[in-house]
Amino acid sequence: MAIVTSISGFPRIGRNRELKKVIEAYWKGDATLDDVRATGRELRVRHWKLEQDAGIDLIPSNDFSLYDQMLDTAILLNVIPARYRRLSFDNPEETLFAMARGYQGERGDVTALPMKKWFTTNYHYLVPEFDASTQVKLNGTKPFDEYLEAKSLGIETKPVLIGPYTFLKLARNAQAQELTIDAGLIDAVSGVYAQVLERFAQLGAQWVQFDEPYLVLDKHDGDVALFKSLYTRLLPARDAGEGHVNVLLNTYFGNIADVYETVKLLEFDGVGLDLIEGRDANLKAVEKHGVAARTTLFAGVVNGRNIWRNDYAQSIALVEALQKVTPNVAVASACSLLHVPFSTQGEEQLGENVLRHFAFAVEKLEEVREIADLVQLSDDEKKASSVLAANQALFDGTRVAEDEAVRERIAALTDADYVRQPAREERQRLQREALGLPLLPTTTIGSFPQTKQVRAERARLRKGEITQEQYDEFIRAQIDEVIRRQEQIGLDVLVHGEFERNDMVEYFGQNLNGFLFTKNAWVQSYGTRCVKPPIIWSDVSRAKPITVEWSAYAQSRTDKPMKGMLTGPVTILNWSWPREDITHEEQTKQLALAIRDEVLDLEKAGIKIIQIDEAALREKLPLRESDWHSEYLDWAIPAFRLVHSAVQPDTQIHTHMCYSEFNDIISDIDAMDADVISFEASRGDLVVLDAIHDAHFETEAGPGVYDIHSPRIPSVDEIEARIREILAKMDVSKVWINPDCGLKTRGNEETWPSLEHMVEATKRVRESL
Ligand code: GLN
Ligand code: ZN
Repeated sequence: MAIVTSISGFPRIGRNRELKKVIEAYWKGDATLDDVRATGRELRVRHWKLEQDAGIDLIPSNDFSLYDQMLDTAILLNVIPARYRRLSFDNPEETLFAMARGYQGERGDVTALPMKKWFTTNYHYLVPEFDASTQVKLNGTKPFDEYLEAKSLGIETKPVLIGPYTFLKLARNAQAQELTIDAGLIDAVSGVYAQVLERFAQLGAQWVQFDEPYLVLDKHDGDVALFKSLYTRLLPARDAGEGHVNVLLNTYFGNIADVYETVKLLEFDGVGLDLIEGRDANLKAVEKHGVAARTTLFAGVVNGRNIWRNDYAQSIALVEALQKVTPNVAVASACSLLHVPFSTQGEEQLGENVLRHFAFAVEKLEEVREIADLVQLSDDEKKASSVLAANQALFDGTRVAEDEAVRERIAALTDADYVRQPAREERQRLQREALGLPLLPTTTIGSFPQTKQVRAERARLRKGEITQEQYDEFIRAQIDEVIRRQEQIGLDVLVHGEFERNDMVEYFGQNLNGFLFTKNAWVQSYGTRCVKPPIIWSDVSRAKPITVEWSAYAQSRTDKPMKGMLTGPVTILNWSWPREDITHEEQTKQLALAIRDEVLDLEKAGIKIIQIDEAALREKLPLRESDWHSEYLDWAIPAFRLVHSAVQPDTQIHTHMCYSEFNDIISDIDAMDADVISFEASRGDLVVLDAIHDAHFETEAGPGVYDIHSPRIPSVDEIEARIREILAKMDVSKVWINPDCGLKTRGNEETWPSLEHMVEATKRVRESL
C-alpha cells in the first residue's frame, strides 16, 4: 500500500501576497468585499491544485483565513464579545476585521482583541475573549463551505481546525485572565466540535484535522483531564449515521511525550507528531507505549519552520523507526507550511548553487512526496535512487568555508567580555546627571511612518532612477522633518525615524557579511503584515559601520538626546533563516560581535543613548520550562551583554521587546543589564507589571501606553489612566513613557495626534505628582 502524504496547512497570503493586497485595498475603500471574497477563492483553488499536483493525499482545507485561524475559530464558536456585536455590521467580514483591528467610525469606537505570538513563531494570533454575554454555539459555515468548495472541483480535502484544548487554553476572559473551565464550558465547546464532526461525516469527508499545539507545553493541574474530557465527549461524533470521519489529532512545535499514553488510549484515527522539534521525546514515547491498532502516525519530518532542504536519509530513518512500532505511518510536514515562504521559483538571482539548498512551501510538498516514495524502496533500490543521491550530495562535504578571523575572535572571548562595569545602579545615577531628563521621560520606539513616498524613493534608488546622493538627501530631509515635529510636540528623547531601513533585520543583514536576500520570500506575520527574513548563509561579521552616519547626522540637528537604533543579535537570528550546520549559539555570538563594533562606533560618534532592539527575544523561549535556560537563555542573554559591555558608564543602553509575556523570566530580562527597556503591554494583560513590582526589577522600563497595531487614536484621558495604572506598580523614577512598538506601519494621520496625546497625558501626570 502506498504511504499516505499529508501537510498540516499551506501559506494563504499568495505567491505575490495577493490576499494582503486586496484586503488592504478594501480597507482603504479601493476594493469591495466581493473582490476580497473572489481573491480568497482564487487562492484557495490555486493552492489546492498545487498540493494535488505535488501528490499530497490529505490536502488541507479551512487553513485559509482572511486574518487569522484563531480568530476564525472564535467566530465559529460564537465567541464574539458584545462590543463587536453591538456594531451590528451587515457582513460577517466586517465584524471579523473589527475584532482584528479595532474600529473607529460612525458605528462606534472599539479596541481590537489582543494579539499574541503563536508559540515560538513570528506569527501572531488574536486572543479569543469570553465576556459575560458569550454563548458558545456553532456560528457560521466557513469550514463546511471551504470543504464543499474544494469538493465541487473534484478535490477531496481534510478540513483543519484549531482543536478545543488549544482553543480553551489560549482564550481569555474579559479581564485577560485564563478561563475558568467548568463542566458547562467543556460540554458547550466539545458539543460544537462534535457538531462539526457530524456535519463532516454527513458531507462524506474522510479526515478532519484538529490542531493541538498546546499539547506540546508543560502540563499543569487539570490539563490532561481537560484534554481527555473534551475528546471523550466529541470523538463519538466521528461516526454519524452511515458515515465515519477519521480524526487526526495534530501536534507540533515540540513533543507530547507527557500525554502520549492518554493520546494512545483515546484511539484517534491519526496522531500527528513533530519529528523535528519534538524528535527524540516523541520517538521514545511511541517506542515505549506503542500505537493503538486503528491509529496512523503522521510522521512530521519536513520542517515547516526553516527553508533548508530536507535531509532525506534522516527523514527516512525517522519514518522507519516508527514503522518498527506500527505499519500505519504517513509522511507529513512537521507543522503548517504557513511559516515558510511560498516558492523558491522567482529567486533564481541567488544562483543554482545556492538555491538548490532551499525548499519553500511548494518545494516542501515535493519533499513530502519524495520521502514517502523513498521509504517504500528496498535497500538496493534506495542505493540506486538518483533522487536520494542528489539529496545526499547537498549534505556531503562543506557547504561554505569558515571565516577564520571570526572564529578566532570568538575563541578569544573571556568572561569579562560579558560584563558591563560599573553596576547598573551607579550607571543610572551618572546617566540621570548627564542626560538631565524630566521624570517620566517621553520617547518612541524608533521608526516613524514609512510612507508611500519613502518606499517609492527606496525603489527608485534600487532601480537606478536616482543617485545615492539624491536618496541620502531625501532621507536627510525626512530626518529633519521628523526631528522638527518631535521637538514641536515636546518629546524628550528623540529618534531619527529609521527611514533608511526597509526592515530592522534585513537592513542590518545587508550590511553584514554572511547574509543572503530573497526577492519575494514573504511570510505572514499578522493579518496582512508579512516579513521577508534574510538567510544566514555563512559566518557573520560587520563589513563597515552601518548606522553611524545617520545617527550622527540626526544628533547634529537637535539639542535633545538622539537615540542610536540597532537590532540585537538574538533578534537578528530569530528573524532570519538560521543555518542548520552550526548552532544558534554560535551564530548569535558572531552577530553579537558585529553589533558590538557598531555600538562602540556610535558611542565614539557622540551618541549618548543607544537602543539595541531585542524585539524577538521572548519569541523563541522554548515551550518547555525545563529547556528555558539550558537551551536558550543561558546563551541568548550573555550574547546581548556582549554587545554593550564595553560602553562608558554614562552611555545609556536601551532595549525594546515586542510583547510583555516575560513575567516568568523577569530576572533574565534584568540580567541583560540594559539601563532601560521599553516593551509592548498595552494590548495584552498587565501581569508583567506585577512581575516587575514583585521582582524589584532594576532596569528602568517603558511599558507601552498605547497600541500601535491599531489605526485608532487613543485619547489623552485613556493614556493618562494607563500611566496611572503603571505608576501604581512601578517607582516613578524608573518609568518611561512610550508607545508599545515602532510606528513604521502606521500613517502620519494617526501617529502625530496619538503622540501629542501621549505627551499631553504625561504632562498632566507630572503636574499631579
Ligand atoms: N526600532 C524598531 C522600530 O521602531 C523596533 C521594531 C520592533 O520592535 N518590531 O520599528
Ligand atoms: Zn516592538
